[in-house]
Order: sequence, then structure tokens, then C-alpha cells
Amino acid sequence: MQFDPSENSYDIVIVGAGMVGATVACGLADSGLKIALIENTRPRPFIADEIPHIRVSALNLASEQILRNLGVWQFLEAMRLCPYRRLAVNEKAQKRGLLGKLPDISGWARTEFNSASVGRSHLGHIVENDLVQHAFYERIAQHDALELICPANIKSFHKLELGYQLVLDSGKTLNTKLVVGADGAQSLVRQHSDIGQYQEQYEQHAYVMMVSYDGDQQDITWQSFRPEGPLAFLPLARSGDVSYASLVWYDSVERIKNLKSLDNNDLLDEVKRCYPKALPRLLAMHTRASFPLYKSHAKTYVQERVVLVGDAAHTINPLAGQGVNLGFMDAAVLVDVVGRALLNGEDYASSETLAAYEKQRRGYNQLMMNAMDAFYYGFSNKHLPLYVARNVGLGLAQSAGFAKNKVTEFATGMVGSLPRLAQFH
Ligand SMILES: Cc1cc2nc3c(=O)[nH]c(=O)nc-3n(C[C@H](O)[C@H](O)[C@H](O)COP(=O)(O)OP(=O)(O)OC[C@H]3O[C@@H](n4cnc5c(N)ncnc54)[C@H](O)[C@@H]3O)c2cc1C
Repeated sequence: MQFDPSENSYDIVIVGAGMVGATVACGLADSGLKIALIENTRPRPFIADEIPHIRVSALNLASEQILRNLGVWQFLEAMRLCPYRRLAVNEKAQKRGLLGKLPDISGWARTEFNSASVGRSHLGHIVENDLVQHAFYERIAQHDALELICPANIKSFHKLELGYQLVLDSGKTLNTKLVVGADGAQSLVRQHSDIGQYQEQYEQHAYVMMVSYDGDQQDITWQSFRPEGPLAFLPLARSGDVSYASLVWYDSVERIKNLKSLDNNDLLDEVKRCYPKALPRLLAMHTRASFPLYKSHAKTYVQERVVLVGDAAHTINPLAGQGVNLGFMDAAVLVDVVGRALLNGEDYASSETLAAYEKQRRGYNQLMMNAMDAFYYGFSNKHLPLYVARNVGLGLAQSAGFAKNKVTEFATGMVGSLPRLAQFH
């Protein structure tokens, strides 16, 4: 089939208007390209004073800057978000076996990273994924070059000589020179393009719980490591004069199954029993959801007129909250690469052009996956010398000012050479 430059033709079709796909669209909105976004699920609407939505993310400063530069942040700020100024990591005391005979060194096995120590007002924000998506949709509506088709499902993909034809379930046909697969971990685009992936499931699952707590909105997010898996606390914006937090309990499949079987009151009691003392006084358990954990990496990000971004290209263990931050950075680099090709009069959709995107992102994404594995396997281990080494390491990290500031800077994402969208302008 030939490429048909009719009204159903788009320079780029982005499949999946989640946080990452919407970033690519808004980043290219003024490039002169005609872009369609296909999304199969409408995000839950924003309602003031409601209980926050269950899916949340910790966005670092680099991601915030991308959203600011795209004119999306102001819409998000008008809904709900919670800045965090401090980030803490500690290891919960082990009382069993030989470990129980050791002096309790877990008291000082705590490291706290503070935005003030690196001259910043905050380290990041905890946001609700649906609200980020909403903020993007408000911005997309302001751009004439962007067309959001939602809800819509793809019925079929056909390869054209220089692009693709996508047929939607409504019967609408879209021809395009480039398909961006931003359709998440189960990416249909990746599967249709026969791009394989490396995948490994972790033994732990994550149980995410929305709770309300007594007192003011907290400015600290923390993780307490145990051999069974970490226990995390992520504060959220107050809603209807109530403070909320997202708790993430990582544990074995059996343990999560057991937690799921408890009613809200019993689960709340179990959380109070097992979480460290740093947990504020909980008032109620609201919603909850479990997630299997796996890492995956597409064998290539670029294949003839198809490019993958975000979770469609890679998924990472969420224990350090990096997934969508990596995805935003993918999107920002892709926008740079396409923009540069347009300026130079080159084919923005060719594999040669897009190879520059993969070159910049694959290595870094792999590095982050490896780092999460080091955390995951390092802290899951019950081995005695490792326990002592970890605690000593955390204790030293707490007192090592320079190194700690380096880690704090790293957590903001504002390090290395940043794509244009992540820079201050
Ligand atoms: C428990 C948990 C906690 C996490 N916490 C954090 C955190 O704190 N910080 C962080 O950075 N990351 C976190 N992540 C990871 C983060 O949620 C993902 O990396 C992020 O959602 C990926 O964004 P995305 O836009 O690439 O994909 P998605 O969010 O999956 O969006 C894909 C979009 O495509 C749509 N779609 C899918 N298939 C189709 C189709 N065939 N046609 C049309 N549309 C389609 C979907 O409806 C969706 O809107 C966490 C993940 C988990 C599981």
C-alpha cells in the first residue's frame, strides 16, 4: 500500500495518551506536524474533596520541569499535588535468629535526604496519575495540531510503504509516517511490530493502599526495608480537609493474598502492627490494589517507522519510583531528536534519525534497572554480614555530607546533559 496524504493522514500517530504519550504530543505540538493520539480509556475525572485516586507517582524535579515547559503544570497545580522536601530510607530491625542477638543498630541505619541541603525548595511531588493525564488533556485541547481520539481501540495495523495504516474500532482509518508506541507495559504496538522484549518477574508483589491520617500534610516520603520487601509511605495532597497517603507494601504473593483477604479495619490494624513508628496515626483505609512486579526491556526501541517510549519500551521495579520519570525523559529526548531532524530537513521518521533517540536512552534506562535490582536483591537478603554492611552503609551515608548531596541531586533528576524540555528556560 502507498502512503495516502488525505485528511486521514497524520505525520505522527501516538498510541496511548497516558503521561508519556501525551508528553511526546505536547512537545511536538508546535513543530508543524499533524499528530493524532489514540487512547482507549478516559482518565477518572477530577473531583475536589474526593478521596485521591489509587495510582500515584513520585515525580522528580526534571519531570516537573518538563510539565512546566509544556504548560501542563499549571493545570495539575489547580487540581492536587503534594511536594516532598525530604526522602528517607531505613532498615527495620531484625529480631530473629542470629540477628536478634546483635545490638540493635537499626536506629542509626537511617538516611534522610533533604532538599535544603542542595539549595532546593523540594525534591519532587507525589501526584495522581489520572490527574496528570487530565492536565495534559486540558493542554492538548489548546493545540490545533493535536487530535485526541478517546475512547478508541485499534482494530488493525497495516504496513504501508512509508508508514502505517491504523484502523480503529469506530471504522476510522489513520495513515501515518510514524507510529509512537506509548501504550504501556502490554504495548499492542510493540507486539504488532514483532519487537520482542526481555522480561523477568520479581518474587515480590506490591500492595498499594490509600489511607487517611491525623495531622497536617507531611513533607517526607520514606521506605523501610525488610527482607520480605520494603514498606513505603508517600504523602498526598490534602483533599476536603483530610490528609491522605499512599502506602506501598512489598511482599510475597502469599502474604499479599493474605492482606487482600482482610477487611479494611483488619488491614488497618495489620499496617499499624507492621509499619515502622514513623507512620502517622492512621484514620481509615480507603481503596487498595495489588500489582505484580516485573522488569522488562524491549529488544529495540526503534523499528521501521515505529518508536517505543515509556513503559512500552521498559518497565522497572517501582521501589524507587523511577518508572514514569524515565518515560518523561524518553519523551523529551524523542522530541529533541524529531525536532532536530525537522530543522535539518531530514526524515524525522527514519530509523537512522530515531537511532539517536535509542542511543541516548537505552543505556541509561538499563543502568536504572540494574540499580533497582541492586536495591531489591541487596535489601531482600537475610544474610548476616550483608545486614551489618547495609546498616553500616546507611549509617555512613547519613553522615557523609558530600556523597549524600550527590545522591540528593541525583534524586531530583536534574543531572547530566538534559534534553531541552527538561531545562529551565
Ligand atoms: C505500584 C506502582 C507504583 C509506581 N510508582 C511510581 C512512582 O512513584 N514514580 C514513577 O516515576 N513511576 C512509578 N510507577 C511506574 C509508572 O506508573 C509507569 O512508569 C507509568 O505509568 C508509565 O507511563 P506510560 O505513559 O508509559 O504508560 P501507562 O501509564 O501505562 O499509559 C499507557 C496509556 O496507553 C493506553 N493504552 C494502552 N493500550 C492501548 C491501546 N491499544 N490503544 C489505545 N490506548 C492504549 C492506556 O489506557 C494508558 O492511558 C509505578 C508503577 C507501579 C506498578
